[in-house]
Amino acid sequence: MKILVINAGSSSLKYQLFNMDNNTVIAKGLADRIGLETSSLTHNYGEELKTKYVLNTQFKDHTEAIQQVLAALVDKDHGVISDISDISAVGHRVLHGGDKFTASCIIDEACKETIKACIPLGPLHNPANLAGIKACEAVMPNAPQVAVFDTAFHQTMPAEAFMYGIPMEYYKKYAIRRYGFHGTSHRFVSGRAIEVLKANNMKHGKIIVCHLGNGSSLSAVVDGKCVDTSMGLTPLEGVLMGTRSGSLDPAVVECIANNEELDVTKTVNILNKKSGLLGVSGVSSDMRDVNTAADAGNENAKLALDMWAYGIRKYIGSYAAAMGGLDAVIFTAGIGENDGPGRAKVCKGLEFLGIEIDEEANRARGKEVCISKPGSKVPVWVIPTNEELAIAMDTLELTKGK
Ligand code: AMP
Repeated sequence: MKILVINAGSSSLKYQLFNMDNNTVIAKGLADRIGLETSSLTHNYGEELKTKYVLNTQFKDHTEAIQQVLAALVDKDHGVISDISDISAVGHRVLHGGDKFTASCIIDEACKETIKACIPLGPLHNPANLAGIKACEAVMPNAPQVAVFDTAFHQTMPAEAFMYGIPMEYYKKYAIRRYGFHGTSHRFVSGRAIEVLKANNMKHGKIIVCHLGNGSSLSAVVDGKCVDTSMGLTPLEGVLMGTRSGSLDPAVVECIANNEELDVTKTVNILNKKSGLLGVSGVSSDMRDVNTAADAGNENAKLALDMWAYGIRKYIGSYAAAMGGLDAVIFTAGIGENDGPGRAKVCKGLEFLGIEIDEEANRARGKEVCISKPGSKVPVWVIPTNEELAIAMDTLELTKGK
């Protein structure tokens, strides 16, 4: 059974085709610069997806992009399936489900209307996600489609965790509250963590998932349910990220805007795009570059790393307090899976919580492994995330027999 997973942005469309018989990706790619004069399709297939086919053309819209993706998938030279009807269903990553979606769902008219109604909460992503959905409906009318929301897993948070201390009327009028993001990753990784901890006879009731990538967020998960998460109304809140500042005094916005004679939108754009590791280090948003610069003695890069680790450590402490205990800490995503020194830096000083990192085990990269000492009261694991596989699995589950 083949499932196509789509992540549509405003001018791009990423895809992965899964063979659900063994949960492997058989082709993946990117349709880029949709709507511009020179669009392109990069299609990877073959052993370890190492063979590349590139098509430079123009995609007027998402529908034309999807048509070319499907053409590449069935092409006699670089295709991986013989007919489009081999694709049993399509799973779409959708950014914002507001408080309307607590789980993935089959896409019907009502679902599309609700995704549309959530556009004010996800003004950049939701319209693009809808464009991707409509494009697939147009070119593959017989394949059932499923929406998987970045926000859904966090819908179990209690009000005390998701409300902001602002006048209630703004929550009622504009639905301003914490929603949280990366929910598909937090669900996938916490679910796998619970399985792994159970198999090792370890406690698994209270866990913290640290999704540390270019965008980063933490979640506190009690008995498999999210009770708090660090991102908020938008992905800007929380820990220091590649280009995002994370949480700060909201008056900073006023101060920058007044001094730089910028409006609020432009100022928030600086907090989203020019801050974080990039803004502090002045080197790069990419952790590998910041590490290299810090190793070479760049003081701003060292400070960025210190701030990054300190902020995450504070969240771990606060979530342990919020849950009234801690059974495990899990690292995932690009930095969390690969940056051993970064993980060690985050955990340094958390020995009082019962966290002791094993230097040797912590050298591991990109694989599922326990990185704490055998005697560590709170085990620490690396569990690789796979949001696309989680979307494919939801899609399979919801469309089985349809
Ligand atoms: P993601 O957004 O999950 O794809 O993660 C991207 C981030 O992971 C970037 O900041 C990368 O620099 C970082 N990353 C990937 N590999 C490594 C590594 N070996 N060491 C440190 N950071 C890494």
